[in-house]
Amino acid sequence: MKLFDGLESLVKRDEPLASRTWFHIGGPAEYFVEPHNVGQLGEILRRCRDNGVGVRVLGGGANLLVDDAGVKGVVIHLSGEAFRQVACSEGLLTVGAGHDMPKLVLYCVRQGWAGLECLTGIPGSVGGCVRMNAGGVFGDVGSVVEAVEVMDTDGVPFTRTRDDLVFGYRSTNVTSRLILSATLRIGEDDPHRILRQVKEIWFYKKNSQPLGQPNAGCIFKNPRGMSAGALIDQAGMKGHRVGGAWVSEKHANFILADTGARASDVLKLINSIREAVYNKFEVYLELELEVW
Ligand SMILES: Cc1cc2nc3c(=O)[nH]c(=O)nc-3n(C[C@H](O)[C@H](O)[C@H](O)COP(=O)(O)OP(=O)(O)OC[C@H]3O[C@@H](n4cnc5c(N)ncnc54)[C@H](O)[C@@H]3O)c2cc1C
Repeated sequence: MKLFDGLESLVKRDEPLASRTWFHIGGPAEYFVEPHNVGQLGEILRRCRDNGVGVRVLGGGANLLVDDAGVKGVVIHLSGEAFRQVACSEGLLTVGAGHDMPKLVLYCVRQGWAGLECLTGIPGSVGGCVRMNAGGVFGDVGSVVEAVEVMDTDGVPFTRTRDDLVFGYRSTNVTSRLILSATLRIGEDDPHRILRQVKEIWFYKKNSQPLGQPNAGCIFKNPRGMSAGALIDQAGMKGHRVGGAWVSEKHANFILADTGARASDVLKLINSIREAVYNKFEVYLELELEVW
């Protein structure tokens, strides 16, 4: 049996990934697969395992740099309706991993549901935000996750609950290949108060982050007790450019990409930044950005 026998309609060959990432950079996926349901997803994972084909998962592409040559193997995208469902019961919101997080935050504001305000202005999917434990000074998603439904390469879904979950700074012990959905704890509150807080966080982000040019958010994690942006700034790297990629003048932990920028430009710039910061402070900056 061939890898995708009977599932051909779900698969695109050599599908460009650049437009699916916030950086707008990178080559194609050898196989780009959009399953419609959990059954198809499980079948794809099992066939990839049995044929030794690598599997990656693309969320909203907001924390991703794809190599100029693209990626071998399968890239799964949970764009199907079945992976974007929202259900609420007794203060618990269960959301498909493919659901857009900013849309979810706004939906909660309209419903008068509090808990996700801290995720205002953070682009990406629910699955990607759980995987990255997305957040910042206002809080992170991990603090409201009660359970996650996940799937490994055997293609069998299972649930992990709060007592078994650990969330750290941009990290989690939810390491299964696929996150299918997350159950988030929410509380009822005055919609006006929630909206006020969302607006405050949005203005804070708008004033401190460069918007309007392709980027992938913060490139480096903050070293313990330090700000990566401040270190990069003090190392004199603001505005530093390699090809079509340059360090934002507004927030030094953001790399901006001009039209035509290449992944190799970004990677060289990352190395230059690391070197400059290490030479000045003897601090090695760890990537927050995922590189494929
Ligand atoms: C303008 C801007 C501002 C940002 N601000 C912040 C911020 O304030 N705080 C913050 O934390 N981040 C921030 N980010 C980064 C980004 O928004 C987060 O990392 C977000 O969680 C990425 O989600 P995604 O769906 O886009 O993931 P992707 O970029 O698509 O993928 C990231 C990782 O998650 C994995 N993944 C995605 N979906 C799944 C799934 N269903 N199952 C398993 N693994 C999965 C991918 O395989 C990959 O390893 C910002 C990015 C931008 C562009």
